[in-house]
Amino acid sequence: MEANIIHHNVSLKEFNSWRVGGIAKNFYICTDINVLSSHIKAKLMEYPLTFIGLGSNTLFRDGVIEGTIIMMNKAMGDIVQEHGYYYAEAGISCSKLAKHVAKTGHEGSAFLAGIPGTVGGALAMNAGCYGSEAWDFVSKVLLIDLNGNQVTRYKDEFDIGYRKVINNKSNNEYFLGAWFIFPEGKKEVAENAIKNLLRHRKETQPLNWPTAGSTFRNPPNNFAAKLIEDSDLKGFSIGGAQVSTKHANFIINLGNASAFDIEKLIKHIKIKVFEVKEITLETEIRFIGEEIGSH
Ligand SMILES: Cc1cc2nc3c(=O)[nH]c(=O)nc-3n(C[C@H](O)[C@H](O)[C@H](O)COP(=O)(O)OP(=O)(O)OC[C@H]3O[C@@H](n4cnc5c(N)ncnc54)[C@H](O)[C@@H]3O)c2cc1C
Repeated sequence: MEANIIHHNVSLKEFNSWRVGGIAKNFYICTDINVLSSHIKAKLMEYPLTFIGLGSNTLFRDGVIEGTIIMMNKAMGDIVQEHGYYYAEAGISCSKLAKHVAKTGHEGSAFLAGIPGTVGGALAMNAGCYGSEAWDFVSKVLLIDLNGNQVTRYKDEFDIGYRKVINNKSNNEYFLGAWFIFPEGKKEVAENAIKNLLRHRKETQPLNWPTAGSTFRNPPNNFAAKLIEDSDLKGFSIGGAQVSTKHANFIINLGNASAFDIEKLIKHIKIKVFEVKEITLETEIRFIGEEIGSH
């Protein structure tokens, strides 16, 4: 699909890792942030704007999704090393950033290697695992506002937490890139850390199935996967959506799931876990589009 132009009525199935969802009324693949700025400035984009990366943490609902979906393409830009920082545009994949950092003799990036999303998605989610989170390494970010202006902001302008990123200066800015700092280290150590992490993930996660990773946030001092497993839900399915038998916090698409099947399963899990454990699970995944029956 051609980048940097607006397409209409695009199926979103191939733009998310669950392989489900409806139709974007307007869809734009960004490979050039300056062209994107000029298109927004020229008022060519229908609002609301929804920025996405690789859709690996997103449930696009069935039906038509209004406004414009802007996908920051994974082929965007190079990673630039300047003044001790690594600058990566939002569309670069986390795994590419992790490998580049290791190859150039810096440590700490291994956790990013197994996250199948973009830098933009990792910034929006504060993605993390094994004790590290994306914003631990961020110094400043480049954003775009609803008028197409590019703005640089420092880390202290954000409220950052577990899968939580709040921009204290504006609700209407989206990530275009970030400057990261990783500690100097040994290339071999960093590359081995990536290898080990990827091996561990393959052993513990259902990576051969369409999934969006962890569906729910871990409640304080608890693990969502354990609560779901203890509620006897491993392998439970609704339509084509199933609670993975390998990792209970992952929902997999058995092949013919709709977004509605996945959403029904999410609701069922929440009800059952509350009945059994008296704990309310909160979703980690993000929903885009209108809920069926919300009117
Ligand atoms: C197999 C598997 C394993 C996973 N493991 C982990 C893990 O260990 N740790 C973890 O944290 N996550 C994990 N995830 C979830 C997911 O990969 C991460 O949350 C990732 O950071 C999402 O990136 P993305 O580019 O796919 O974002 P998307 O799913 O495209 O978007 C996620 C959210 O960010 C917003 N967003 C995306 N790009 C931008 C932007 N440029 N500006 C503003 N907002 C934006 C979207 O609107 C949406 O709300 C896993 C997923 C899978 C499928």
